[in-house]
Amino acid sequence: MKLHELTIHAAHQLLRRKEISSQELTRAVLDRVGAVDDKIGAFLTVAEESALQQAKRADEQINNGQCLPLTGVPLGIKDLICTQGLRTTCASRILENFVPPYDATVIRKLKQAGAVIVGKLNMDEFAMGSSTENSGLQITGNPWDLTRIPGGSSGGSAAAVAADMCMGALGSDTGGSIRQPAAHCGVVGLKPTYGRVSRFGLVAFASSLDQIGPLTKNVTDSALMLNTIAGHDPADSTSVPVEVPDFSAFLTNGLEGTKIGIPKEFSATEGLDDEVRAAVERAVEVIEDLGAQRVKVSLPHTEYAVAVYYVIAPCEASSNLARYDGIKYGVRDRAQDELMSMYRRTRSKGFGPEVQRRIIIGTYCLSAGYYDAYYGKASQVRTLIMEDFKSAFETCDVILCPVAPTPAFKIGEKVDDPLTMYLSDIFTLSANLAGIPGMSIPCGFSADGLPIGLQMMGKHFNEAKLFQVAYNYERTTDFHMQKPKI
Ligand code: GLN
Repeated sequence: MKLHELTIHAAHQLLRRKEISSQELTRAVLDRVGAVDDKIGAFLTVAEESALQQAKRADEQINNGQCLPLTGVPLGIKDLICTQGLRTTCASRILENFVPPYDATVIRKLKQAGAVIVGKLNMDEFAMGSSTENSGLQITGNPWDLTRIPGGSSGGSAAAVAADMCMGALGSDTGGSIRQPAAHCGVVGLKPTYGRVSRFGLVAFASSLDQIGPLTKNVTDSALMLNTIAGHDPADSTSVPVEVPDFSAFLTNGLEGTKIGIPKEFSATEGLDDEVRAAVERAVEVIEDLGAQRVKVSLPHTEYAVAVYYVIAPCEASSNLARYDGIKYGVRDRAQDELMSMYRRTRSKGFGPEVQRRIIIGTYCLSAGYYDAYYGKASQVRTLIMEDFKSAFETCDVILCPVAPTPAFKIGEKVDDPLTMYLSDIFTLSANLAGIPGMSIPCGFSADGLPIGLQMMGKHFNEAKLFQVAYNYERTTDFHMQKPKI
């Protein structure tokens, strides 16, 4: 096996035994980026110099007998997580030249653990999208078929992990942006419980929904990354002071007694592709054979999830994005000599069409006279969606369903039709609205050789159960071991 193909766990074993150095490993990963990223377009910034310095430091740490699970391991970061001294663009023209003066908490934790940051990864502008086509900077291809989207908004993160350009990556998930690209690229993606991981230093899209999480080559690596980034942070008032267990300790527990809930509404979803349906059903059968027990559950309000999300998320976004006015951060249109026209020009040149659409929808829904009808109503229905999950989890431990209704679609296929694009988020949005953890793991391939993902959702702060079910399933399959031919 080539060095860049290693999983985090496998690389850690070799580093710990000093059979390889972090500098060799980092060099191999950077060479891989040099060899294939021209075709894929996952990286917005490759941090070669600082990565090699971090690798050197990691090697010194290891020589001093300090080798934590991520020490010396090369990782990629979605370009909306602040990295001190390293450009952070949110794939937006308006932040094209923004170099953060501080590290996000998750980055600080990764650095403390000795991880190596190889670069910043492409995404939909401000994480708004499902295909990475809304990036204001470049298009990313799916490593399994370069004419198709890698999913979004963390498309760069998923593509980079799938094509072995980093050993794992961080993404963010507001309505599916970790799970859906993970599914389309054949990797493992975890959206932790809201409040499990600090959002300090994550550029805000919709603050009541955003959560940072890992994209990795397998379930073990996902647990290792969550172990490192999770935990209460006084700098994020929504981070929750709960105990962080060692997530890797749960992987090998058997599934006897585990109840898996299958929501009756999901299989009736319009537009659910037959191959996806069949792959998910086969996965459920395998998990049953492993000792879990299937129960039927109902989530009657999920049919409103798309409508609720596409009111709440734009409302929060319109408020969060008000800070990009050309004064405090990023790019300013200097041709203007008057304040209002400077704001107007900066914002209309700096933001792409999808971001502008959402700011307009959000501003409208929050305006006096419409607030109750839209934001207020959406918040009420959001509570009903949360209650659906609460009662479903009285009879089951984990809910299983598809991640996306179809495998990865063609680049350009849905760009002119935002509504169809929004509908493709149908299976992922509710976990964010309810704040529960959700995970995507590879569960098959379409006849065209495109990866298909299985989604698992769990109770608040019970990521451990997701890891347990996912690991037991992964052990019996080899979908996660297949590589795109790139
Ligand atoms: N696709 C959804 C959107 O466009 C979710 C994005 C996300 O999770 N960041 O808003």
